Amino acid sequence: MSDERSSFLRSRIRDIADFPKEGILFKDITPLLADVEAFRTSIQLMVEALDGESVDAVIGIESRGFMFGAALADKLGVGFVPVRKPEKLPAATYRAEYELEYGSDAVEIHRDALEAGDCVVVVDDLIATGGTAAATAALVERCGASVAAFVFVINLVALEGTKKLAPHKVISILDY
Ligand code: AMP
Repeated sequence: MSDERSSFLRSRIRDIADFPKEGILFKDITPLLADVEAFRTSIQLMVEALDGESVDAVIGIESRGFMFGAALADKLGVGFVPVRKPEKLPAATYRAEYELEYGSDAVEIHRDALEAGDCVVVVDDLIATGGTAAATAALVERCGASVAAFVFVINLVALEGTKKLAPHKVISILDY
């Protein structure tokens, strides 16, 4: 990726200290979304990094993964499938739980969202510990589908979340 496009996108990501709780440096992507050139650039970089990979669907993780994932699905010419927090999806779901620093959380997918044998891209705004993305991969596999690649706008490298996603291909537009 060109340094120019990378620094342009970095200029549209805002650090918010102590949100949502003390000690967390929150990467706020709302300035990027609000700037049409920055948003388009982020999606274009995802398309380039996927390098013609043929996929059947894009999975977006609630909620910021919906924004990037839906735009990417449109560009790739495939459908979009949401992975949501528990009890948000109306039809029958599969659920995958994952550990947080304190306690656990879960994500769900509609059981009929994918066809067996489908190959998908999983999108979120950011990977931190990788727990959410790994749980999403478990849901995709539960549907009989497989993950061709994970795509993130931001990777918080020091947290080594991508290790949880091995051996899958992991693309991040910006490493911090
Ligand atoms: P994890 O499961 O630890 O990889 O966390 C990833 C999810 O939490 C993503 O959906 C992110 O949007 C959100 N998240 C975690 N840490 C941050 C952060 N520092 N800034 C913004 N979002 C974050």
